[in-house]
Amino acid sequence: MKNSDLNYNLVYSTSQGSICSGCGQAISSCVCHEIKKAAVPNTDGVVRLFYETKGRKGKGMTLITGLVLSAAGLLDLAKKLKQRFGTGGSVKDYAIELQGDFRKQAEQELRKLGFLK
Ligand SMILES: [Zn+2]
Repeated sequence: MKNSDLNYNLVYSTSQGSICSGCGQAISSCVCHEIKKAAVPNTDGVVRLFYETKGRKGKGMTLITGLVLSAAGLLDLAKKLKQRFGTGGSVKDYAIELQGDFRKQAEQELRKLGFLK
């Protein structure tokens, strides 16, 4: 028996019948990841846009925080904004990061989409 076979068998046998403490489902059908993706953060509902250069080797980032969106929703919005502005970016800790200073454009876009009043 190869080592990889052994590992597989071990993982398989320990997961049989185990219940996830997070969602109460069997480990094999755990939905924690999905729940987490759909969860909306606790925010004060105030959308903030700021430009940050600190610790980024002079490369600025536009940060958008306070959006009442799930992680999946944020990823979707980030994708839209990145395409719109032709820049890169990511989502971290419920904040959208865009490479470059897009505060003005992002504010307009968020207003259009109804995230800002
Ligand atoms: Zn789970």
